[in-house]
Amino acid sequence: MNARVSLDDPEFAASTAAEVPLMLNTPIQAALPAPAQFAAVTDLIKSVFNVPAVSVALHGAPANAEGGVYRSFLEIPLIKDEVVIGSLRVLDTAEREFSDRDCQLLEGFAKLVVDQVELWGEASRDVLTGAMTRRAFSDTLRKTFAARARAHAKASLMIFDLDHFKKINDTWGHAAGDAVLKAVARCVLRELRVEDSFGRIGGEEFAVLVANADATIASEVAERVRRAIERLSIPGFPQILVSASFGVAEATDAVLDVEDWTDRADAQLYAAKDSGRNRVRVATETAPRAAMVN
Ligand code: GH3
Ligand code: MG
Ligand code: MG
Repeated sequence: MNARVSLDDPEFAASTAAEVPLMLNTPIQAALPAPAQFAAVTDLIKSVFNVPAVSVALHGAPANAEGGVYRSFLEIPLIKDEVVIGSLRVLDTAEREFSDRDCQLLEGFAKLVVDQVELWGEASRDVLTGAMTRRAFSDTLRKTFAARARAHAKASLMIFDLDHFKKINDTWGHAAGDAVLKAVARCVLRELRVEDSFGRIGGEEFAVLVANADATIASEVAERVRRAIERLSIPGFPQILVSASFGVAEATDAVLDVEDWTDRADAQLYAAKDSGRNRVRVATETAPRAAMVN
């Protein structure tokens, strides 16, 4: 599966995503590292191969290749537990033939990158639900917010909190509460696309970064997730009914920073709670920040 390519097309951009099949049934987006995690290893690969750019493309995360025009590249799949999770490329601005030795060398580096994916995944994943930790999610949110203007990509944030969760714990016990959290996380991942990010940001509060979605699309996703949670049957506790309240906010030009973005989604979540729970509320552009927070 190693590709040795010399590209004739000078317009070839390094940021092109790797053409390896997506594992759509594998909710790996909850455990993917941000490409910046690989700065040390990619710098090492650059100097060993004497190339100007190296890209790590992981399914569910943006590629980190520096922009530029490249004429040749060598690509190796990143394989974890026999599943292709992305690809590693060295890119050169010159025409270049890569040797068998280069391939072997890059395969060695690919193992190193996969090890880092695993390490980062463990550190950034919530143990109970498998969702991203609050910190990892917040990192992803920050990067997405910073990159959205350059990428001309829309992004929306959905925050949701389980309704009357304390009552579930009090009535059925903490183990039942934990079973609900796990089942909810599994159910939410089934409703998301591989490019979305899903985090547990509090005890029974979760957040989804809905990629390439304006407020309308994100509210449809939220509505879909809301209905899926409402229909959920908890393994071992079929008598428990679960619901959640949702706040959605798009990162429009009016949004000042990540805190503002989060506040807007949060304000809608509280509005959803106030107006009866088990519903979705969406931030509108006309509502000024102060009015929503107070
Ligand atoms: P609301 O509809 O207003 O959100 O009410 P609520 O009962 O869900 O909200 P509240 O914040 O009062 O309760 C949240 C509860 O979540 C309290 C806390 O003990 C419980 N909780 C937090 N983390 C965990 C956890 O990891 N496992 C379990 N079982 N419960 C948890
Ligand atoms: Mg709650
Ligand atoms: Mg809460």
